[in-house]
Amino acid sequence: MPASLESIINFGANVSFTPRHDYRPENEPEVLDSLRRNRHEQIRVIGRLHAWSRLVESTDVIISLENPELDALTDEAREKLLLELRQSFAAR
Ligand SMILES: Cc1cc2nc3c(=O)[nH]c(=O)nc-3n(C[C@H](O)[C@H](O)[C@H](O)COP(=O)(O)OP(=O)(O)OC[C@H]3O[C@@H](n4cnc5c(N)ncnc54)[C@H](O)[C@@H]3O)c2cc1C
Repeated sequence: MPASLESIINFGANVSFTPRHDYRPENEPEVLDSLRRNRHEQIRVIGRLHAWSRLVESTDVIISLENPELDALTDEAREKLLLELRQSFAAR
């Protein structure tokens, strides 16, 4: 489920925006679920928000991959995620 809608502010506090949906998946199934739910939407992935540029900005769907558990994905899990992403884009 998306988190409550609050402004997202980057580390340098020079970028701030409020997305329509803000997903904070804690594990791989939740990442896949957020992709499935938003396969027809414009999705922006964010990390730890250390970038200074406005690249991270989106008023549509944000999926944050900053959770440390997601850094430890197995190769198999990564492949599964990539496949899901490709299918998501192909379905547009
Ligand atoms: C104090 C400080 C020092 C820094 N020093 C350096 C330095 O020495 N060298 C250097 O190169 N940079 C440096 N940076 C910049 C920062 O490390 C980079 O911008 C880094 O890429 C930010 O990573 P992030 O996870 O915070 O990404 P974010 O800021 O969250 O996002 C940056 C971009 O990457 C995309 N993105 C993030 N995660 C993913 C993902 N998992 N999949 C796909 N796209 C993704 C976002 O959509 C966005 O476009 C520094 C930043 C700070 C605050």
